[in-house]
Amino acid sequence: MVAVRRDPARARVSKPKRGPSPRLPAGPDGFAQLVAFCRDAYLEVDRAGVVTQWNPRAEQVLGWRRHEVIGREITETALPECIGPSPFVRARKGALDTEVAELGWRGVRSGEGVRRKVELLHKQGHRIVADGLLFTVGSGASGGIAGFLYDGRGSASPGGPLSHADLHDRLTGLPNRVLFESRLARAVATAGSIPGAVAVVLLDLDRFQAINNSVGHETGDRVLAAVAGRLRRAAGDAELFARFGGDEFLALFRSGDGPVGDVASAFIERARLALAEPFEVAGSEVFLDASVGVALNTFGVDDPSTLLSNAEAAMYRAKQRGGSRVETFGESMRIEVVDRMTTEHSLHRALERSELMLHYQPVVELGELTTVGMEALVRWQHPSQGLVPPCRFIPVAEESGLIIPIGAWVLEEACHQLRDWQREGRTGPRGMVEVNISARQIDDPHIVRTVEGILSRTGLPPRHLTLEITETALMADAASALLVLRALKDIGVLLAIDDFGTGYSSLSYLQRFPLDILKVDSNFVEDLGAGAGGEGEEIVSAVINLAHALGLKVVAEGVETEQQLDALRSLGCDFAQGFLFSRPLPAADLIAAFGLQVSA
Ligand code: C2E
Ligand code: MG
Ligand code: MG
Repeated sequence: MVAVRRDPARARVSKPKRGPSPRLPAGPDGFAQLVAFCRDAYLEVDRAGVVTQWNPRAEQVLGWRRHEVIGREITETALPECIGPSPFVRARKGALDTEVAELGWRGVRSGEGVRRKVELLHKQGHRIVADGLLFTVGSGASGGIAGFLYDGRGSASPGGPLSHADLHDRLTGLPNRVLFESRLARAVATAGSIPGAVAVVLLDLDRFQAINNSVGHETGDRVLAAVAGRLRRAAGDAELFARFGGDEFLALFRSGDGPVGDVASAFIERARLALAEPFEVAGSEVFLDASVGVALNTFGVDDPSTLLSNAEAAMYRAKQRGGSRVETFGESMRIEVVDRMTTEHSLHRALERSELMLHYQPVVELGELTTVGMEALVRWQHPSQGLVPPCRFIPVAEESGLIIPIGAWVLEEACHQLRDWQREGRTGPRGMVEVNISARQIDDPHIVRTVEGILSRTGLPPRHLTLEITETALMADAASALLVLRALKDIGVLLAIDDFGTGYSSLSYLQRFPLDILKVDSNFVEDLGAGAGGEGEEIVSAVINLAHALGLKVVAEGVETEQQLDALRSLGCDFAQGFLFSRPLPAADLIAAFGLQVSA
C-alpha cells in the first residue's frame, strides 16, 4: 500500500482566479451585514473586473440580481464597453485607477474615498447616473475596486427629470420599480415610527418559466399582461400596484390610523382567486398561482429598501416551501437572513483561506463488489464550527453565486486527485470520479469552457469524469439544461441524474437528456430488504428496469445494510454507494483504511 502524497497547497481550496474575494476594512461580518442592509447600492469588482459584491440595494437600483452578476465580468452586465471608461473598467484592465488606489484604505477608514459620477446600465436598458464613493479593497493581485452609489434612482437621460416612460412598465402599463420605490420611500417617511402602518406585498408567479419555455416569450408576455390586469383589479385599495420585473408584482398599502395587515391579507386572497381563474394559453387553459411575501414596517424597519428586501426574503421562503403560499417576514426570518449573510461572508473567506476540502465515497460495482469510482463531496473546515456539511453552505453558495468558483475548485481538485491515483496505478482503465454540479453552474454561460479547461489542465481524459446533476436542477429550466448537457456530452464526459425520485421524476425527460447514469435516491433504498416484495422494492425495480431500457446504468445511493445490498443485487442494480462500503473520507484516509484500489 502506497501512501498518497498530496500537494498540501492543492489539497484545500486555493484562491479562485475569478472568484469573489471581499477584503474588508474591519470586523468583516459586521461589514457584510452593514452592506447587506445598507440603503445605498454597494458593488465590488476584483482586478479582473469580476463582480464580487452586489448588495440588495444594488439589485434595486440597477435591476440586476446578485446571481446574475456575481462571478461575471461587470462589462457583461451593468457596465458594457459602450458606457465608456470608468474606474470599474480600469480595474478590469489590470491597472487600478491611480487616484482611487492612492487613497486606498486610508480613504475607507476616514470615510473619504474618491467621489465620482458613475454611469451604469440598468437591466432594462436605461442608464443610471449616480454619485459614487469609490475606494480600493485588498492590494496587489487580490485588489479590486469598491463603490457605494448614492442617489442612483436613475434617469433615462443623465441628469434629466423622469418621464412617464421611465416610471412605467412598457408591457403592462403598470408603475415600475422606480416609481414604486419612490412611493414606498414617501409612505415610510410619512408613517414615521408607527409600526404596521405600511405593508409591502410581493407576488411572484409560480412556474411561470415553464409557460415561457413551452409557448415562447411572446405568448408568455401576453399572459403576463392578462395577469397584470387581473391583479390590478384585485389591488383596488392599494396605495400603488406595480410590476417589479419579470413575473413579480408589488402592492403597497398604507394607513394613517392603524395596522394594514388585514387589508393586505384581503388583497392577497382576491389576488389568488383572480389567478385561479384559468388563462387561455395557446388554445389550452392554464391555472396560475403565486408565492407571496409580506413585510410590514415593524421590527424597527424605517427604510424602504429594507422593507422591500424583507418582502423578498418572505417571498423566497414561500417559494422554498413549495410555492402557492403566503409568508410574512418575522423575527425568525430576520435572524435567518442575518445568519445567511454571515455564512455567505465567511464562505467568501473560506475560498480565500483554503478552508474547503473534498471527501470521497467509493462507488461499488455489485457483481464483484469492486470499487469503480469515487464521488467527490465537498466539506468546509470552518475555523470555529468544525467540519460543516454541504447542506449547510451549498444553498447559500448557490444563492450568492459563490457556487461558481467553489464548483470550479471542486472539479479541478477532484480531477487532479483521480489523475494522481491513475499515476500511482490505483485505478483501472475505467476508474471514475463523480462530481456534483448545481443548477446555478448549469446556468453559467462559461460552464462548458470551465470543464474543458480543467480537463486539459489536469490531463484527465474526459471519459473518467462523471458530472452529477440533480433531477430538480434539470427540470428547473429543461430547455436550456438540455443544450448545456449536450455540449458537455460532446466534450466526452459522462452525465448522471442525481437523487432520482425526489423531484418531478419525469420519465419522459429521462429520454430527452443525454444521460449515462441514474442514481436512485437513498429514500427508496431505505425501504429495501425489510421484507420481500414491499412497495419500496417495486418502485426501485421499476426504476431500474426503465433505466436499463433507456440504456442507463443504475447507482443506488445510501446503501447501509446487507439486506439492502442483497435486494439491489437481485433487482439487477449495477452499482451502489453507502455507509455499508464506506463513509465519505479524505483521500489519504481512504487509502489508509482500504488501500484503495479503483479497479474497473
Ligand atoms: P449527493 O450527491 O446525493 O451525495 C450523497 C450524500 O449521501 C452525501 O451527503 C453522502 O455523505 C450521503 N451518504 C452516502 N452514503 C450514505 C448512507 O449510506 N447513508 C446516509 N444516510 N447517507 C449517505 P453529503 O456529503 O452531506 O452531501 C449532500 C449533498 O450535498 C450531495 O448529495 C450533493 O447534492 C451536495 N454536494 C456535496 N458536494 C457537493 C459539491 O461539490 N457541489 C455541489 N453542487 N453539491 C455538492
Ligand atoms: Mg451526488
Ligand atoms: Mg444523491
